[in-house]
Parts: sequence; C-alpha cells; structure tokens
Amino acid sequence: MAEVYNWQLGRNMEYPYEERHSKRQFVAVFNTNRCIACQTCSMACKSTWTFSEGQEYMWWNNVESKPYGGYPANWDTKILSQLSEADPDGQKWEEDGSFNGKTIFEAAPKNERVLGYLPENSEWRTPNLYEDTSTKYESSGKLGLADGGAELPVHKAWFFYLQRVCNHCTYPACVAACPRKAIYKRPEDGIVLIDQERCRGYRKCMEACPYKKPMYNAQSRVSEKCIGCYPRVEGSDPLTNGNPMETRCMTACVGQIRLQGLVDLNEDGSWKEDRQNPLYYMVKVAKIALPLYPQFGTEPNIYYIPPRWVPRDYLTQMFGPGVEEAINAYRAPSRELLAVMQLFRRSQEIVFHYEIEEGPKVYETKVRGEKFTMYNDTVIAYRENGEEIFRTDVEEPVIVRPPERSNAI
Ligand code: SF4
Ligand code: SF4
Repeated sequence: MAEVYNWQLGRNMEYPYEERHSKRQFVAVFNTNRCIACQTCSMACKSTWTFSEGQEYMWWNNVESKPYGGYPANWDTKILSQLSEADPDGQKWEEDGSFNGKTIFEAAPKNERVLGYLPENSEWRTPNLYEDTSTKYESSGKLGLADGGAELPVHKAWFFYLQRVCNHCTYPACVAACPRKAIYKRPEDGIVLIDQERCRGYRKCMEACPYKKPMYNAQSRVSEKCIGCYPRVEGSDPLTNGNPMETRCMTACVGQIRLQGLVDLNEDGSWKEDRQNPLYYMVKVAKIALPLYPQFGTEPNIYYIPPRWVPRDYLTQMFGPGVEEAINAYRAPSRELLAVMQLFRRSQEIVFHYEIEEGPKVYETKVRGEKFTMYNDTVIAYRENGEEIFRTDVEEPVIVRPPERSNAI
C-alpha cells in the first residue's frame, strides 16, 4: 500500500494507490438542525436517476433517523463493530485532534484492500427505517415525560435526521476495492463515477464503501452510484445558461439545509485558501461543519452541521473531534456566519464567492449567557466569473397585507 496524507485524520495513512488529487473538489454542507425528513431530496434524485428496472430499491440520496435507522440497515454500527474488532482499544481520537486508530484500509484482512461487508438484500428495504424513533426518556414517573427532558444543551430523549449521499471521497474505498479499475475520480471536480462499460458487477465497491453508497443493479448486472449530477455541475443544463449548477437533491431541499459547491485544491490535496467561497468559509474558517465518520479514512467531502440537542459522545463518534466547537459556532453565529447561512437555497447555481454589505443592528439578546447581536446585512452571491447571482438580507422581509386584502387567501 502507498502512504497518503489524510487531513481529517491529521496523519499519513495507507491507501492502495499513490496520492493524486483533482483540481477541484465537489463539496457540500448539510445542516442537520433544519432537516424535516420530507425526503424531497430523495425523490428528486430518484425521479432523475433511479426510476428504471433494477433500480427499484435504490436511493442514491436517502435521509435516515438516527440513532436506530439506516439504509442499508445498521450500515454504520456494522462497520464500526468490524473496526473495533480489528483494533479493540485503538479506535480513539487523540487530544490534538488526530486519529491513530485503524482506518478501513489499515484494518483490511490479508489479501483484501478494504475492510467491509456486503449487505443482505433485506437490509435495503427502506430508506428511513425507524423513522422518528427516539431514544427513550429517563422515567420520572409522569406519563411519557421526563423532568427537563427537552432542555439544551442535550436532550434526554433524542433523534435526528441524517442526510446521506455519496461523499465523493478523496480516498474512495470503492476505487480502492474495484478489481476492474472501473471506478474513477474525475480530475476536474473530484466526482467519483463507475464506468458502466468496464464494471462486471463483482460488487467489491458495495462491500468496501463504508457508507454503502454503490448499489448493484440486478437487471443490468453492473453497479451504480450517485453521479454527483455531473451534467449540472459542469453547467450543461440549459436552465442556467451554461453556469455550474448544484445537484438535484441539493436544489430540491425544502428545509434549505443544503449548500453545494466546488473548492479549489492545491497539488497536495489541501484546500486552496479561498475565504470568500462559502464552503471554504464554513468548513475551514467558521468550522461549523464536520465530515461523517472521518475515522473510516476515505476523507469524505460532505460536511455536516451537527444537531445541537444530541449527546456529544454520540456526535463525536459520528463526526470526529470539533463537535462542541461547531455547535457553539452555530448556536450563536458570528455576524459573517449568519450572513453566509442565508446563501442556502436562494438559487440553483453554484455560488463561488460571496461578499457582505453591512446593514443596521436589528436585534440583541443573550445566548447561553453571552451577548448575541443580529445585523440586517446583505449577502451577495457571485458566479465563478464574478457576475452577481443574487443578493439577500439576513432579516426576512415582513409583508403586511393592505386592509382591503386582509381576508384574501
Ligand atoms: S462514499 Fe462510498 S461510493 Fe462514494 S466515493 Fe466514498 S467510498 Fe466511493
Ligand atoms: S429535502 Fe432537505 S429538508 Fe427534506 S429531507 Fe431532504 S435534506 Fe431534509
């Protein structure tokens, strides 16, 4: 195996191929705090890409209820257990934020490139198993309620929605495991694709991907996965006159929890400093969004703003170190962060840069004892070529109906 640098682990790790990076990387931020599990994203994807024979069970995008749900069932607890068996006491994050436990590549059995498992057919039955099922209340003797059960910082009974797509990983396990070299990462945007001509349906990708995002089509007998809506990202959809557009699942999001874009990479794979790119700002500067199970070692590129009410141990296992810092930054956002958060879902086009025009102070309060001030700033979104896409204010406009229409529907 070769040695590659994984910034999410803060160390080098083993990977079957030499380190090589795309020019840009497909990246998204999902705000778990705002998702309502309407599955509009799942349906937008399905009605675009997976409506054919052999694809009936496929949800390239799914939204599941945590802690119990999963698609396929128990995908994360299964791989976490396999890793714990391979490295019984080592799967921990160090004080300095690095991870010295074993990744799925380092814990691979002899003669395998990746540690994994192939889900049973029955495990793919539903995209949101245990929908809305919470952990149980500590009983207070009162009917169904616990004292202080729903007080922040952490609720006693909790669940949350986890939105899942292919992570278009920097070190994809699917690429590592494919004996046909049928899976590749596009040099222009880091989107990971399965070459349908080369694939022979061995399902090694399905077995290796810790997120279980490649899926086997028994009709065509090849594997398929999320294609990052690459024609939209390339700008070939006529809707945006050739300008790069976000994917179907992102743009359909009713809860406005998703923002997707492209970040420029240096040759060594690090993100080029680009403070005015909203994805760069949220992940690298404000640090409110974290990768999903970074300890697997694939360097996933979908980042999550963790749910505020969930026990921190659970969140740390899921998103790695930085959970408390991310939640604090989100709970009482800085002036700039609050403005950047307004960019979510105002347009279908990819926002490459933003600028903020300062507005008046509109509100002041205390958040967990600390002063919080809100300003009605205007955030302006730009295309790659510097043209404005839209501008929007922090304060939502209040529209009062004229008296003659006060009863109108
Ligand atoms: S999430 Fe899975 S399928 Fe997607 S790139 Fe990573 S390893 Fe491959
Ligand atoms: S469309 Fe948005 S709000 Fe609805 S389930 Fe998907 S991510 Fe959640």
